[in-house]
Amino acid sequence: MSILAPYIKGLGVTARTAMRTMFPGGLKRPIPQPSKGAVTVQYPHEKETPTDRARGVISLVEDNCTACMLCSRSCPDWCIYIEGHKVKAPPRRAGGKARNVNKLDRFDIDYALCMYCGICVEVCPFEALFWSPEYEYSEPRIADLLHDKTRLVEWHETVPDFEEYESGSQQKVLKVPR
Ligand code: SF4
Ligand code: SF4
Repeated sequence: MSILAPYIKGLGVTARTAMRTMFPGGLKRPIPQPSKGAVTVQYPHEKETPTDRARGVISLVEDNCTACMLCSRSCPDWCIYIEGHKVKAPPRRAGGKARNVNKLDRFDIDYALCMYCGICVEVCPFEALFWSPEYEYSEPRIADLLHDKTRLVEWHETVPDFEEYESGSQQKVLKVPR
């Protein structure tokens, strides 16, 4: 096979796709209509519905978060900012000692830096982070892409219900049943 064969094949695919985009009516109706032939969606005039598990935005379940910092330390972009303080909590059993637990003061995610890798959601041991497919939160000011705790908690309303597990598969017990 000639060394040029793959390049010629690639150019052929590109040319066919370009023709399909420019002339969606084919050779019978060779009128250029690139807006009809394009496979891309003309956002914001047209919108696609992402799948339920699309990585749109991360939501926080504040009650589940122990401010353990695992997500923040695992984030490759260092775009999760957490602050907390210790509070006394009642003992687990009658007659036990009062416990020191973390109380969350600040939980911010900077979506100007986030690369949507999902590591934070995966590593959280307490089911405090969930993906929502919501994607419409662009901002004219880049600083406004920093979502604070209140906003991250609000995103949880947009997290779809979990699908039923297949019969026989291990049931994961969620702290926040949805
Ligand atoms: S999705 Fe990835 S980059 Fe974004 S906050 Fe989570 S760990 Fe960081
Ligand atoms: S979201 Fe999860 S991993 Fe991150 S601090 Fe809270 S409990 Fe820890």
